[in-house]
Amino acid sequence: MEAAGRTLSWQRDAIEMYEFHLKVPAGVDNLNISLDAITTLDSAGGGGPAASSNVLDLNWNAVVLYPKGAKSDDVSFQPSVTLPSEWKFGTALQVASTNGDEVNFAPVTLTTLVDSPLIAGAHYRKVELSKAGETPNHVMDTVADSEEDLAMTLADVTAYQKLVAETGALFGARHYRRYHFLYTLSDQVGGHGLEHHESNDSVAAERTLLDPDLHMLYAGLLPHEFVHSWNGKYRRPAGLATPNYQEPMIGDLLWVYEGLTE
Ligand SMILES: [Zn+2]
Repeated sequence: MEAAGRTLSWQRDAIEMYEFHLKVPAGVDNLNISLDAITTLDSAGGGGPAASSNVLDLNWNAVVLYPKGAKSDDVSFQPSVTLPSEWKFGTALQVASTNGDEVNFAPVTLTTLVDSPLIAGAHYRKVELSKAGETPNHVMDTVADSEEDLAMTLADVTAYQKLVAETGALFGARHYRRYHFLYTLSDQVGGHGLEHHESNDSVAAERTLLDPDLHMLYAGLLPHEFVHSWNGKYRRPAGLATPNYQEPMIGDLLWVYEGLTE
């Protein structure tokens, strides 16, 4: 942690492990804080690393600090990311500008930032799931350990397009501005499915699109996380709608959240 070119000493709180104590020097209105590493053996949402040499699954909550006690709706962020050359990415965040390998996103609240992960990789494929000109637009961004893992069949693409259309028939309304299926196919990064308001961050085995058994095993993952955008995010159990990420959530309505979605 630095301020005005000087290194600041800081201390992790003895009880609240996500809290840091430091003295901000007088006259300083800007802290420069850098992390040595963004991935560890269990840094992905469901266990396992958040990155490999070919794939990144960036959940901003793992790299963000915010003022203690602030409401996440009240804090604004202007996120940016610098990716390895030639890597492509997917996220529900809106790109404001690019500068070489650096991508700058439009400002968002902390709530939206933490709800809008980014995936990126050397091997990337984008699949359009909405009809041309239809709003809101639905896109699938896929990254994988190798190029051949991205070989989604036309039958699968058609099925995911039908999935989007069927949610329109089932729910009758869409509450998001756009929707991204962020789909990572990797045996290197942590496997999980995480639902968000305008995206889902789903990781399946590297050969899911190539191996019929894996294909069947993971078939329910993307539809499930997509439906959570309505049931769980747009409509959210009161106990899970906390003002920030330090307030404990109360999950006694998760049986509705998960059971009805399933
Ligand atoms: Zn679920």
